[in-house]
Amino acid sequence: MSSPIAPEPMSSALEMIGHTPMLEVKHIDTGVCRLFLKLENQNPGGSIKDRVARSMIEAAERDGRLQPGGTIIEATAGNTGLGLAQVALPKGYKLILIVPDKMAREKVLHLRAMGVDVRMTRSDVGKGHPEYYQDMAQTLAQSMPNCLYANQFENPANPEAHEKTTAPEIWEQMGHDIDAVVVGVGSGGTLTGLGRFFQKHSPKTEMVLADPKGSILYEYVTTGKMVEAGSWIVEGIGEDFIPDNADMSLVKKAYEISDSETVETARLLLQKEGILGGSSTGTLLAAALRYCREQTQPKRVVTLVCDTGAKYLTKMFNDLWRAAQGFDDQPKTGDLRDLIGKGYKEGGITAIGPDDTLLTAYNRMRSGDISQLPVVDHGKLIGILDESDILSAVEHGSGQATSRFAIPVSKAMTRDVRTLQSHEPLEALAPIFDKGEVAVVMEGEEFVGLITRVDLINHLRLTA
Ligand code: PMP
Repeated sequence: MSSPIAPEPMSSALEMIGHTPMLEVKHIDTGVCRLFLKLENQNPGGSIKDRVARSMIEAAERDGRLQPGGTIIEATAGNTGLGLAQVALPKGYKLILIVPDKMAREKVLHLRAMGVDVRMTRSDVGKGHPEYYQDMAQTLAQSMPNCLYANQFENPANPEAHEKTTAPEIWEQMGHDIDAVVVGVGSGGTLTGLGRFFQKHSPKTEMVLADPKGSILYEYVTTGKMVEAGSWIVEGIGEDFIPDNADMSLVKKAYEISDSETVETARLLLQKEGILGGSSTGTLLAAALRYCREQTQPKRVVTLVCDTGAKYLTKMFNDLWRAAQGFDDQPKTGDLRDLIGKGYKEGGITAIGPDDTLLTAYNRMRSGDISQLPVVDHGKLIGILDESDILSAVEHGSGQATSRFAIPVSKAMTRDVRTLQSHEPLEALAPIFDKGEVAVVMEGEEFVGLITRVDLINHLRLTA
């Protein structure tokens, strides 16, 4: 008997793939248009790629390319890998994934938690290079017996997943009335699958491309030229080549979106609509909003929340990361202040008190992913506690090691701290780093923040 308040229990996570909800954007300016979001983050693996993984594995099973106990290999930014893991592991297949090293840590941790063999490779080399993720996957697949290279970039089961499931769902949810669909291109599966469906069922529906700045696709669509690829932070979309699965002739209009606009738009979506979308969602929504605001006639527009922002909490949604990428709009001063971002007074620095225990200090370092803490007493900096201070206190003191973690920070910290003033130049850091110390930055008598070697590396990379 069907329940009036909730769907029946399902018998497998596979059944939960697809049938995702649609949400209308109501709290962001969409001009004269109505904008709807297809929530693909609601798939069990957290992204649109669950549909593609199921389609590719079932197609290979049907035509015998995948035999029981076989291995699946894929080159993936993470989401296709998660989708493949969702489908392959319960079916008893082994999975090896080649992942470019710019991908969010959460995705890799999720894959490793599923027991997948994840192999990292460079994200700064292009197609044709042996360390390029797709070339690596192909070479590995050729060297192994009973092995399927899923190859989302060429596999026809990828666009087919969208033509047969995503598109008809959107068509029904929108009451057979859609003027434009805004998509990104990673493999091209979404563009080609949705584009083919709407060509057949709704010729008035325009396919609109959202492309990260640095990708070659925007230029190709607007001028027909193939340009050299740059780099971008968005995961899952943007390309340095045109995949076989991407039928670019379907695109009627394209927008190029900068990394900072992507990040700000994803954050806006969370703050205004309560939807935690990933980085590609930021790019798609930014392009969809531009399209909507440019229209003079009311239109019904659809875009996608391709994956969940939970995969990017340490990046896009993290203030320190945004500051390190230069996305926080802080005016540049040309001195040490440029390397600090939010200072101690603004709550941007994790600190500890002298009476806190070493256990508290250790936990704070782990959760903040930092190796040292300023020790602050009633607003005044009185010392520094780093990993070696904790180690020497807990390794050699009296009593059990566990009880040594109860020692107060004041007994283990370094009191003799050399400081710099915030208006000093970057060159002032070298003598401090040469000694293996961190720079403690003050404004007069007031503590501002710490600068470590990695802060300087980030700064030099971004300003290079
Ligand atoms: N967004 C994200 C987060 C993705 O992982 C992908 C897949 N690479 C896409 C969008 C784009 O989809 P497609 O591969 O169908 O072009």
